Amino acid sequence: MKTSKIFSFFSPSTIGLFFGTLAFLTLSLGCQRSLDPEDSCQFFQNPDTQRVSWKKNLPVKLHIHSSVPTEAYQSLREAIDSYKDLSREVGKPLFEIVSYGMTGPLEPTRDGNSVIYWMPEWEPDRLKEQGRTTIYWSGNSIYEVDMRINASSTSHFTFHFIESSNSPVQGVDLKSLFVHELGHVLGLSHTETPGSVMHSELQDGVTRDQLSAEDLKNLRCEYPSQG
Ligand SMILES: [Zn+2]
Repeated sequence: MKTSKIFSFFSPSTIGLFFGTLAFLTLSLGCQRSLDPEDSCQFFQNPDTQRVSWKKNLPVKLHIHSSVPTEAYQSLREAIDSYKDLSREVGKPLFEIVSYGMTGPLEPTRDGNSVIYWMPEWEPDRLKEQGRTTIYWSGNSIYEVDMRINASSTSHFTFHFIESSNSPVQGVDLKSLFVHELGHVLGLSHTETPGSVMHSELQDGVTRDQLSAEDLKNLRCEYPSQG
């Protein structure tokens, strides 16, 4: 399963097999107390080497934009369910879908809402991305995320929806993709560890929708048990 990232990212035979990278926007604050450096635990870190996460501000409230096809809803709900063990430890839900079919511009932007989009257009130089999550943070706290799934015809992705789960997975397993992007939503960055949902590649036909022991260990750094 372990593949060479360098070759894979540029090999034509693996076009379309990759998760998107995180996109970040930094809010600069005038007066901000400095914080001690922390181990990354595979989290994105701010310039002060602090892990960036939602801290105790859970659940993350997610809106589903009207661009997202309804048959994708179940994949998202089950992806959220993959985090239920951690949610139990933390003592509250990590994610909450607060609206389905939210109307508005099909344009991820910092608007105070965390929205999931299904994008018919994608940057020509990033067509290999299956999805991308942008997190907006201040200090060491995330306050908004936007997730986009690459549904552009030029990328030629075929998404495998949950409804067809009895048949062999063909194309990109949407639930696995959502589990990965939800990891970004919580603040995790990529890892090259095989089996981790945060691995930067997802091959066609592969299901990887369960958090690994390492994923859970990392997440507990920022989302510890309240029990
Ligand atoms: Zn990713």
